[in-house]
Amino acid sequence: MPEVRLENASKLYKTEDKRKQYAVKDLSLTIAQGEFVFLIGSSGAGKSTMLKLIGGEISPDEGAVLLDDVNIARFFGPWKVRLNRTFGIVGQQTLLIRKRTIMENLMVAARASGMQRKSKAAAEKALGLVGLPRVAECYPAQLSIGEVRRVELARALISSPPFLLLDELTANLDDDTIWDIMHLLNELNSRGTTIVMATHASQFVNIMRRRVITLVDGKLFGDVKNGKYGDVV
Ligand code: ADP
Ligand code: MG
Repeated sequence: MPEVRLENASKLYKTEDKRKQYAVKDLSLTIAQGEFVFLIGSSGAGKSTMLKLIGGEISPDEGAVLLDDVNIARFFGPWKVRLNRTFGIVGQQTLLIRKRTIMENLMVAARASGMQRKSKAAAEKALGLVGLPRVAECYPAQLSIGEVRRVELARALISSPPFLLLDELTANLDDDTIWDIMHLLNELNSRGTTIVMATHASQFVNIMRRRVITLVDGKLFGDVKNGKYGDVV
């Protein structure tokens, strides 16, 4: 089962005045199969960048990101399917196509992860899991923000990936919806799915008491087992 390791991983961006700036700097840590990790830090701290590095959406400019001891920079062409199968991703920006129904959207995701058969049944199952069995024929604009986020979670779950990377899935949701989502994630995790989620939902982080990784200005500031929001050591 997959394990991800960051070894002194840094990502640099050029600013408008052509200077280089670290989005994340010198991150070293391991995320083992079955862990539940909250990734916290203020806006601009590097949470999204770290999630994209883990999922292989971007490559580090320094250091390395390894999936089961293989440098993911080597995953290209057909090997990308391995990444798509390993990581179910919900990004900060929606990936849903506005002009396609929810079912069509999920089919697109199923193909990207290499599923050929039974993808419709898998989509229906994923929608059932997130508590939205009846939205298949809707368009994204017809759903509430909470429903859209849950559909995105279903999209990420369609090929039953061992690893979920969730970027601010809980943003702008009411407490009841966040609670439902946390409950579902807890259940998936108890069945073996590794979860890394960037969130600002501090009260839920404090109730769940899982591993809490804190970023400040792109650097690893805290990494605490059974942690709370704001824990450093
Ligand atoms: P967070 O998700 O914690 O809000 P990000 O990972 O999005 O933080 O960003 C970390 C830093 O990197 C910020 O200063 C941001 O402006 C910068 N950054 C992120 N992505 C880009 C990009 N594509 N181009 C330039 N700068 C970026
Ligand atoms: Mg972000």
